Amino acid sequence: RARVVIIGAGIVGCSAAEHLTRLGWTDVVVLERGPLFEAGGSTSHAPGLVFQTNPSRAMTLLASYGVRRYSELELDGEPCFYPVGGLEVAATPERWRDLKRRHGLAASWGVESHLLSPRECVEKSPLLDPQKIYGGFYVPSDGIAKAVRISEAMARLAQARGARFYGGVEVTGIEVRGGRVRAVETSRGRIEAEVVLSCAGMWGPRICRMAGAFPQLLVPMQHQYAVTTPVPGLEPESEESDHVILRHQDHSMYFRQQGERYGIGSYRHRVMPVDPDDIGRSGEGMPSIMQFTPEDFRGPWEEARRMLPALGKTEVERGINGLFSFTPDGGPLIGPSRAVRGFWVAEAIWVTHAAGAARAVAEWMVEGAPQVDLGGIDVSRFDEHAQSPSYVMARSCQSFREVYDIIHPMQPMEEPRPLRTSPFYPRQRELGAYFLEASGWERPQWYAANEPLVAGRDIPERDDWSGRYWSPVVGAEHQVTREAGGLFDLASLKKAEVGGPGALAFLQRMTTGQLDRPVGSVTYTLMLDPKGGVRSDITVARISEDLFRLGLNGPQDIAWLEGHLPEDGSVWLRDISGGTCCVGVWGPQARELVQSLSPDDLSNEAFGFFQARRIHVGEVPVLALRVSYVGELGWELYASADMGLRLWDLLYEAGGPLGVIPAGRGAFEGLRLEKGYRMWGVDVTTEHDPYEAGLGFAVKPEKGEFIGREAVLRRREEGPRRRLCCLLLDDPRAVVMGSEPVYAEGRSVGYVTSAGYGYSIGRSIAYAWLPPQLAEVGQKVEIEYFGRRYGATVAEEPLFDPAMKRMRG
Ligand code: FAD
Repeated sequence: RARVVIIGAGIVGCSAAEHLTRLGWTDVVVLERGPLFEAGGSTSHAPGLVFQTNPSRAMTLLASYGVRRYSELELDGEPCFYPVGGLEVAATPERWRDLKRRHGLAASWGVESHLLSPRECVEKSPLLDPQKIYGGFYVPSDGIAKAVRISEAMARLAQARGARFYGGVEVTGIEVRGGRVRAVETSRGRIEAEVVLSCAGMWGPRICRMAGAFPQLLVPMQHQYAVTTPVPGLEPESEESDHVILRHQDHSMYFRQQGERYGIGSYRHRVMPVDPDDIGRSGEGMPSIMQFTPEDFRGPWEEARRMLPALGKTEVERGINGLFSFTPDGGPLIGPSRAVRGFWVAEAIWVTHAAGAARAVAEWMVEGAPQVDLGGIDVSRFDEHAQSPSYVMARSCQSFREVYDIIHPMQPMEEPRPLRTSPFYPRQRELGAYFLEASGWERPQWYAANEPLVAGRDIPERDDWSGRYWSPVVGAEHQVTREAGGLFDLASLKKAEVGGPGALAFLQRMTTGQLDRPVGSVTYTLMLDPKGGVRSDITVARISEDLFRLGLNGPQDIAWLEGHLPEDGSVWLRDISGGTCCVGVWGPQARELVQSLSPDDLSNEAFGFFQARRIHVGEVPVLALRVSYVGELGWELYASADMGLRLWDLLYEAGGPLGVIPAGRGAFEGLRLEKGYRMWGVDVTTEHDPYEAGLGFAVKPEKGEFIGREAVLRRREEGPRRRLCCLLLDDPRAVVMGSEPVYAEGRSVGYVTSAGYGYSIGRSIAYAWLPPQLAEVGQKVEIEYFGRRYGATVAEEPLFDPAMKRMRG
């Protein structure tokens, strides 16, 4: 028996064993069907290019940690990492612009980088034709990871602490009883285990099926990698590489020197998914290699020789169609199963991120939470529709196609759509809604029907990047909401009910707020992880003694709550998002509007701020919550989906004469920024404690025990390590998008979380994390956006209606 059984001894499994044993869980067994350590999985073929910079902060931090760890390792005197540097070149003006953005991203996430002229690029990558490029983005610490060597070096460290590795042992089954993992069955017998961690890479779906844990969330894909014959004149000093690793993203290609040869990787070919059950069927050598298909390499090969003319004197010596995993959003799958306790996955992880991901999963298991926020890569991020086979296939194929594309932060998926629609959808279409997509929901960003409202208003135009997925109508909807009111579709809000005799005690333990309040109370509260990091911010309405209505951030909240439900059945939880619609009716005319349709008393005396009541709006039974994310008087009105259209029609008809209009997400964003309302996952994550995030008011330690209480009290005493600050840009016409670096005293000191334009205050707003000494009101900083610096000043918040007169009105 073993405390933990890890399935797979690729780079992820070996790194996981190293990190678990380092944190004190030494009773670890690693099972590998292939030979150790050239096991035949993806790790055995990775050319090991490590480019750290990624739009995702988490992915960049995982990669940077990998670079540090791989650099420290050696195996029998051989290094495991070659820090040759990484260069991404631009062959189009659009890419060159985007590399400036990447340069900013790197600064935001703490990676040193430089923008190079074509001539400087050639100094780093001598085979490049400088005529073909506009410039390059250079990261000196990027390099080449020797994935198999790293696996073995990690395994040796783990073995020295007691971990046991077995090659040639295939896991054939996973025993689950009472919703818990009990044992694994293997080709060589049964091993009891408390925890099973699948690091089976692209075989993951097979392992998950054995556990009954996750449906197939990843798709193995073929990816071409070829090596040239020796390049004439290339006389390397090292048998690895003297040249930087190189990305030519405009053609979805990458290059590395391999001694006197060059290796070329290409994603510029048809998508070639493989069924996990068919891996290794071809019987040709290692299971993760399929036959090279030269016809798919023809175009890339031509491009390679155009870009690196010296390759014109070489041939393709050998090539493979290698296999590795793609997921619906291109991110890894990390975390515990909510269906089967004790079953975890760490799959779809590149060599680049393997050590970082392994550390995160080990910290999560042993300490209850990872130090890097995994919000975007937590395996529980997928809603149920996003786990369907057709969705996973369609989206994973798309993430293969987009692997090197320039993706705008607001770019919605194109297929499959429409997927989830609120009952208001037909009316929204009639009003010319411009839809973006959120968690599969069609979400209006603005309404063409509101175009006439733009005339006569001061709504600054935007540059090409921040003007994408934007219209001046957004500004008009924002202002009209403050002048009269707006109807906001809140379909994408995750909604759940928690009930049962143990419900109150359960929610008290899960949240920081005092929920033992009279029926009809609404509480804004936080869920913390055991380290005191903010796991989510939620609203909880007490509907009856034993029934609560929750407004959540996403499926990962449901998973977190479910994972902590008492095993005695005294509490139940139901995700009611699909069958419940919600419209936010907010603005000075909101009371007049809803009251005109309701027999219930909506006066301030009868229905106060942060209260919930069951009312009728016309014929529609509604749960009304007097809360607002935009800082205006009004309610979130919840109804069952069958009556949603009626609810919308009533509000729309009665709202017209009062000047109340349907308003989109674009307006919502600006309104909430003016009020300083944080958005979890963007402004605040598990990396932050409530006090530094400006959410200390939601923590009530005096109420008694809750998850994270001790840690958060300690953090309060230690004082903030940084602060979430509100910045106003000096130039009111400049709008940034989020993730930009913030500079002060000549160095990068923080990064922007969310940003937008406050159309009521006429200023451009950006929230940013800054060191405490730079967080004082009046502090001058600079925000870098596409290589240009914009002055900004830390401002007092909230920017709008600090006395809260409007919401309480
Ligand atoms: P694997 O290495 O596949 O390990 C999984 C292991 O699980 C396998 O050894 C398998 O035998 C074992 N296993 C499966 N089922 C069972 C079972 N039932 N019982 C016991 N054992 C089992 N990444 C980069 O970062 N940079 C690159 O430049 C790069 N280039 C690549 C180029 C190619 C051609 C390929 C194929 C991949 C490349 N990758 C690159 C991706 C990278 O190689 C993989 O993402 C990574 O190696 C995955 O590691 P892993 O440990 O999760 O999976």
